[in-house]
Amino acid sequence: MAEQRKRKPMIGLQTDGDVDWSEYRGVMVVVEQRAGQAKPVSWQLLGEASRLAKKLEAPLMALVIGSDVHHLAQEAIYHGADKVYLCDSLELGPYRTRPYSRVCLHVIRTYKPEIVLMGATYTGRDLAGAIATHLPTGLTADSTQLDVDEDRLLLASRPAFSEKMLATILCKQFKPQMATARAGVFEALPRDESREGEIITVAPQMSVDEIATDVLEFLEAADRVNLEEAEIIVAGGRGLGGPAGFAVLEELAHELGGVVGASRAVVDVGWIGHEHQVGQTGATVRPKLYFAIGISGAVQHVVGMQNSGCIVAINKDPEAPIMKISDYAIVGDLFQIVPAITKAVRERKAAGWAPSPFSATRQEQPVPAGQ
Ligand SMILES: Cc1cc2nc3c(=O)[nH]c(=O)nc-3n(C[C@H](O)[C@H](O)[C@H](O)COP(=O)(O)OP(=O)(O)OC[C@H]3O[C@@H](n4cnc5c(N)ncnc54)[C@H](O)[C@@H]3O)c2cc1C
Repeated sequence: MAEQRKRKPMIGLQTDGDVDWSEYRGVMVVVEQRAGQAKPVSWQLLGEASRLAKKLEAPLMALVIGSDVHHLAQEAIYHGADKVYLCDSLELGPYRTRPYSRVCLHVIRTYKPEIVLMGATYTGRDLAGAIATHLPTGLTADSTQLDVDEDRLLLASRPAFSEKMLATILCKQFKPQMATARAGVFEALPRDESREGEIITVAPQMSVDEIATDVLEFLEAADRVNLEEAEIIVAGGRGLGGPAGFAVLEELAHELGGVVGASRAVVDVGWIGHEHQVGQTGATVRPKLYFAIGISGAVQHVVGMQNSGCIVAINKDPEAPIMKISDYAIVGDLFQIVPAITKAVRERKAAGWAPSPFSATRQEQPVPAGQ
C-alpha cells in the first residue's frame, strides 16, 4: 500500500497547503494538436500510458484543449482513453501558454491524476514547464522510457551526462508526477472505433480580455524537416564522403515523397544540419520505410530508428552492424545503388505506381507485386 505523502511547503512558492496524495489517481495524457490535427506523439503516449494505467489499475485519461476539437476527444477514446476532458472554445484556437496552462491546472486540481504526460515537442515542453511550476511538482523532460513501481511512483528515464548514461528520475513528494516524452519512442495502440469512453466538458479558465497575447499569423518554416512524422526517411552517413553526397539521397527522397535523415558523424562535421540527425542525440523516428545509406549502425544511431517499419541498409561492408538489423541489406557502393533505385522508382511512377502512401511493414513490402 502506498504511503500517504503530504506536500511540503516550498520557499517562495505558494502551495495548496496540505494535500492528501492518495486522492490522486490515474494517468492523464495532454493531447497536442494544431488546427484540429493531433500530433502523433499524443497517441503514442496514450499507448504507453495505457500500459502504466493497467499496472496501476487506474483510469487512463486524456485532456484535449483547442477550438473545434471535439473529434479529437473521440479519437483519444479510440486510441485508449477511458475518460477525456475536453475544453473546446474559440479563444483556444492557437496555442498560448497562459490560457492552455490555466485549463490544465484546473483539470489537474479538480480531477487529480497521479501522472501527467505530454509530448516533448516545443509546445509540450512549454506547457509542461508552466504547469509544473504552478502546481508545483516535479517534471522529467524528454523521457525515453516510462514505468511505475510498486509505490505508484513514475520512473521516468532519460539520457543524462552528455547522453552517456540513462538516468531514472522520480518525483516522491508531489503529485501529479509529470513527464514529457519524445515522439517516436512509444507505440500507439491500434485505433479501435468500437472503444467507448466518457467525454467531460471543461470551461475555459480565462476570458478573451484576460489573454494578453494574440497570434496574428502562423508561418510554417519552408525548409522544416519533420523526421518524427515522416513515413519515409532516406538517411545518409559518413559513407557519402562529403556534403555533395547528399544530392543522391535528396533525389531518392524526392521521388519517394520522403525526407532526408543523417547520422551524427555527418552532422558533427557540418555536411548537413542537426535537424536531420537521427539517433540518441537526434530524432527518434518511426517511419514505414527507413533507408540507412553509408551508415555503419552504431548503437546511438540504431536506438533512434530501430522501430521503423521496414529498414533498407546500403553499405559496402557486409559486416556493418546496420546490416544485421535490416530487413533488406544491399551490399555495394551507394553511388551505384542509390541512383539505380531512384531511376527504378521514377520509371515505375511514370508507369502509374504511387509510392506513397503505402504500407511498408516487415510483412508487406513497398515494391508492388510483379515489379
Ligand atoms: C554520446 C553519443 C551520442 C551519439 N548520438 C548519435 C546520434 O544521435 N546519432 C548517430 O547517428 N550517432 C550518434 N553518435 C555517434 C555514433 O557513435 C557513430 O559515431 C555514428 O553514428 C557513425 O556515423 P556513420 O555511421 O555515418 O559513420 P561510420 O561509422 O564511419 O560509418 C560509415 C559507413 O559507411 C560505409 N561506406 C563507406 N563508403 C561507402 C560507399 N561508397 N557505399 C556504401 N557504404 C559505404 C562504411 O562501410 C561504414 O559502415 C553518438 C555518439 C556518442 C558517444
